[in-house]
Amino acid sequence: MIVVEGLHKHFGGFRAVDGASIEIATGSITGLIGPNGAGKSTLFNVIAGVYQPTAGRVIMDGEDITGLPPHDLFHKGLLRTFQIAHEFSSMTVRENLMMVPAGQLGETLWNTWFHRGRIAREEAELAKKADDVLDFLTISHLADERAGNLSGGQKKLLELGRTMMVDAKIVFLDEVGAGVNRTLLNTIGDAIVRLNKERGYTFCVIEHDMDFIGRLCDPVIVMAEGKVLAKGSADSIMQNEAVIEAYLGR
Ligand code: ADP
Ligand code: MG
Repeated sequence: MIVVEGLHKHFGGFRAVDGASIEIATGSITGLIGPNGAGKSTLFNVIAGVYQPTAGRVIMDGEDITGLPPHDLFHKGLLRTFQIAHEFSSMTVRENLMMVPAGQLGETLWNTWFHRGRIAREEAELAKKADDVLDFLTISHLADERAGNLSGGQKKLLELGRTMMVDAKIVFLDEVGAGVNRTLLNTIGDAIVRLNKERGYTFCVIEHDMDFIGRLCDPVIVMAEGKVLAKGSADSIMQNEAVIEAYLGR
């Protein structure tokens, strides 16, 4: 689905991503691991259109999408979540989900004035969809909670829920498990597997928890110092000399 070719992202003279090439197969849950500062989040940011690459290309389903802005990628079904959740804290969980679909009828004054009936129907549909998403994620009881009151893990689930409000094809998850307790991490893991199996989502997942990676991801790509160091099954990666050395530090 995604082919990244010879990608570079330099900040001044510093090579955060230094010639990385990766492929993400349709239907896979691909893991992306590596020591802190390896360039994982920067790679995500370039793929997701947050940064322009210094060099290299990103291809999605055969189409060159290099440097397209995030909203164009969103319409192509390419979504990312952030390492730090960015919910609207004073809105409820349901309202946060209802905000997601782009081009809502209620957005323009014109539509508000001329299509009141349609907007009401649209909102009811969105609310229904949001409730289905919350049900899928097993957090229906949080629908009317202010998002700012959620725990870190619940916010991560909400992030995942946002991707379900639109027709995502591929979702990039940046440390979705960071600071999340084991029970909630399992819930997040289960939701990812179900979205993959039941809805055909492709995932690329940055995560430090190797149990989580081992349970979910195949293949696993390892980055270090802006480059791809290895790719393979979680088991083979953990026995790879270069990978072990990168984690222990040279
Ligand atoms: P990872 O997600 O693998 O921990 P990052 O992609 O966040 O790594 O960062 C890779 C390197 O690039 C780090 O050394 C970081 O300090 C640097 N870096 C990331 N973003 C910027 C930026 N906007 N400006 C300068 N340096 C950056
Ligand atoms: Mg990171």
